[in-house]
Amino acid sequence: MARVSFPWIRPLWQQLSEAALGGSLAHGIGIEYQPELGSEQLLEQLSRLLLCQKPVQDTKGIRACGQCKQCLLYKAGTHPDLLRIQPEPGKQLGVDAIRKVGAFAQQSAAQSGNKVVHVVHADSMTLAAANSLLKTLEEPPENTYLIVSAAQFSLLLPTVRSRLMMFPIPRPPLDTIAAWLTQLVPDATISDALVSYAQKRPLTALQLLKDGQALPQAMLDDVVFGSVQLPKDNEGIEQFVMSVIESLHLTLRDYSERNTYPTWAKAHVETNPSGFAQALSDCYQTGIVLRRELQGPGLNAQLLSQRWLHDCRRRLLLARETMAN
Ligand SMILES: [Zn+2]
Repeated sequence: MARVSFPWIRPLWQQLSEAALGGSLAHGIGIEYQPELGSEQLLEQLSRLLLCQKPVQDTKGIRACGQCKQCLLYKAGTHPDLLRIQPEPGKQLGVDAIRKVGAFAQQSAAQSGNKVVHVVHADSMTLAAANSLLKTLEEPPENTYLIVSAAQFSLLLPTVRSRLMMFPIPRPPLDTIAAWLTQLVPDATISDALVSYAQKRPLTALQLLKDGQALPQAMLDDVVFGSVQLPKDNEGIEQFVMSVIESLHLTLRDYSERNTYPTWAKAHVETNPSGFAQALSDCYQTGIVLRRELQGPGLNAQLLSQRWLHDCRRRLLLARETMAN
């Protein structure tokens, strides 16, 4: 996807960039890992700014110049004073990787400017790795910035946390997200359900709109993980229910025709392949009934929909237990 801007992180960027330029930025920085909400872009902007020799400050704010030798090295992906450490997929971040951080911090900068280290998915560090990182955080060399990125800072050792200046990524309000989507895809019809989905996954929602697709099967993830926030008004709820029905339909189609299914369905599919298809079909049918009910007057749409979602969740995840009973 082409580069997009995330208006909701601007105030945070202003805070970080002013501190960086003014020399008051902590050497241990914690940035919440929320790539959908722009955390990777924030990390990149900050690293470029810290490495740049001639930062620009004008009405658009502070940023790296993009032209100095440091900026060119960064763009080429070969800046010798930038180190990125992250775990291999599905693995913990081990002490060997973190030792590289310590060694890097002790070296003098190859370009005689700042050095920047990213430790990504720091919440997956082993205890030994965390203790090793702590040593570097306790005595960070003058010109070294350690940017620690984690989805759940609560999983870090308190001693590590206390050495970091923490920056959570702000959650955009619904009207900000709606305006953002409208600006980027002006001709699209944007439902309330999509906006509420986009509040958590703006990039996925944006891509779907651009591709002209309906809400993704991924929407079922929210249903099975119980993290659905229903819209407040009845019309919004009805649209939302429609989207889940659509997702069920697409998931059933993919499962029947291509035998593909969401990750969370693995256990269910492996134990009872036809049971999973049945669960999808049952949820679809009860969803159609619910939708018809919602069009009638005087019903508690919120309650009925929550009940249906709860039931779907049970069927999709736990149909195995139900069968065993
Ligand atoms: Zn520059």
